[in-house]
Amino acid sequence: MTTGSEAAARTELVQAYKEVVGLGLTELSSGNISVRFGEGMLISPTGASGDTITEDSLVYVGPDGGWEAGRRPSSEWQLHARVYRENADTNAIVHTHSDYCVAVACHCKPLPGFHYMVGVFGGDDVPCVPYNTFGSEELARDVALALRARTACLMGNHGATARGKHLDAAVKGAHRLEISCRHYIHSLAIGEPRLLTPEEWADFHRRIGNSGYAK
Ligand SMILES: [Zn+2]
Repeated sequence: MTTGSEAAARTELVQAYKEVVGLGLTELSSGNISVRFGEGMLISPTGASGDTITEDSLVYVGPDGGWEAGRRPSSEWQLHARVYRENADTNAIVHTHSDYCVAVACHCKPLPGFHYMVGVFGGDDVPCVPYNTFGSEELARDVALALRARTACLMGNHGATARGKHLDAAVKGAHRLEISCRHYIHSLAIGEPRLLTPEEWADFHRRIGNSGYAK
């Protein structure tokens, strides 16, 4: 992203925001999206929605955490900044309050390895970080920590965050996690699902290793 022009980056970010709204992952102003840009990032503004977001409304947040007067980035800007700082290969982040992710996250438990698609996020579960107030340093710290070993995590009593090498990967990650949480909740309706065994996970990760699947 850092090689493209700023105008192109802003256009892509607005398109991705609208895509996330179109997928039903964000309603009203509950989600936020960013891309790494230059030394900092471009992020959706506080209070953005699919109807109001524009290229001009996006906020550039510098490496020092500063932004232009008269603008305000999403309240979760610290979370985005910290994930970029700790993951050099991450260039886009999508944070949502999507229905099924929230439903699972409100139990403050990880999404277990009940289906092999849980493994596309990099492990044999999707962790859930403890609840902390939105926009807090503690929440940013915990999400960044969880996303060192995964490309997505749940956030206790809150929602989910997905990261990717580019916008499309981050959007797909957020969408895939929503689908997996939906499948998990449906599966729970007829009892506790069987979890994949450690051997099955090892085989899955060996197979996915070179496939480029879900990257
Ligand atoms: Zn949130």
